[in-house]
Amino acid sequence: MSYPNLTGNVYCANCSKKIQTSCITVRENHLIRDYFQFDDGRDNIFCNSDCLAESLIAEEIYLNQEDGE
Ligand SMILES: [Zn+2]
Repeated sequence: MSYPNLTGNVYCANCSKKIQTSCITVRENHLIRDYFQFDDGRDNIFCNSDCLAESLIAEEIYLNQEDGE
C-alpha cells in the first residue's frame, strides 16, 4: 500500500481544490481496495476531513430527543 503520488499539481478528489501543503488520505485497507478506483491514489486525496467525509457519503444525523418539557 503506497501513498498517493503527490508530485506536480494535486487536487482534492472531492472539491477539486488545489492541494497546497498537505492533504488527507485514507489508509484503511478495505476502503482502498473496494472504494477507491485508481491505483495511483488520485481519488484518495482530500484537502481536509470534511471533504473526505463528504466523499464517503458520511452524514450527520441527530439523536432522538424528547420534546423539551
Ligand atoms: Zn476538498
